[in-house]
Amino acid sequence: MGRNLKMIRFRKTLMVLLTILLVIPTFSLKPEEASAAATFIRPSEGTVTSGFGPRWGSMHYGVDIAKSGTVPVVASAPGTVIFAGQAGTYGNVVYVHHQINGVSYVTVYAHLRSISVRVNDVVSQGQRLGYMGETGNAQGQHVHFELHKGTSTWNRAYAVDPMDYFDKNIVPVEEGSFRLLTGTFSTVASQQEAAERLRQATGWTVYTVNENGLRLKTGTFTTRASAEAGQRLITQQFGWVSYIKQEYFRLLTGTFNSTAEQNAAYERLRNDTGWTVYKVNENGLRLKTGTFKTRTAVEQAQQLVTNDYGWITYIQVEEQ
Ligand SMILES: [Zn+2]
Repeated sequence: MGRNLKMIRFRKTLMVLLTILLVIPTFSLKPEEASAAATFIRPSEGTVTSGFGPRWGSMHYGVDIAKSGTVPVVASAPGTVIFAGQAGTYGNVVYVHHQINGVSYVTVYAHLRSISVRVNDVVSQGQRLGYMGETGNAQGQHVHFELHKGTSTWNRAYAVDPMDYFDKNIVPVEEGSFRLLTGTFSTVASQQEAAERLRQATGWTVYTVNENGLRLKTGTFTTRASAEAGQRLITQQFGWVSYIKQEYFRLLTGTFNSTAEQNAAYERLRNDTGWTVYKVNENGLRLKTGTFKTRTAVEQAQQLVTNDYGWITYIQVEEQ
């Protein structure tokens, strides 16, 4: 009897654990969170004794942080170790590669007393890479920390001032406007039920649409990577087929009274902005721009046209 009761309790605990395991990934996979702001943290405790910039007639490509005693030096952001060992004036040094919101970064931790990681180790933010020291060309115990931004890895030409990055949000670059469109549902009821389930699981904006069949369409993702993460979530959680649709934006002006007026406006707009501009006859003589990739860009363009020309414009959305 007592054993059965224990068994029941155990099963209940197991159920709770399973529920937690099933629920947590739902939230941790939210694309908004996956692509949300990230940040770099200081690699160690201590005082900044030398900043980024010209120093003694040369360039100091990083910041020096000094503290006495046994001081852990930690990964500034999650990443992968690409070098760990001795390198000339840097002494014992660790290089970590980071991929944050689609941008590559490399961080460098020099003059370490000892190294705790190896090449190809995946490190989390705050994980110890070694201890502060004064190996290589160092005066007094400190860590020389560099942050390189871009596609590069080793080239210090890509060095940026780490102080501009510590504890500041790295906002994802807006690449475009992407939506997910699911495959078709057989009934309106199943479409609506699916919409509700998707909303509940993700917190996304979800629309029920009829585009060649009953489908669901999400709100916009601003990067392709986040749309792809959303697509994976839909596959994993629901087993549904979904497609990534990219939206493009154009400006369409109001009508001009004559071809001459349309021509003059065409020349002005093209010369002033450098945009691709078309003369169209769509319910009147109008101008139409080439495509803009993001809603932000087209809205800025619209603002410019309003301010500089006083013309009415409409934003047109196209999908591919
Ligand atoms: Zn330094």
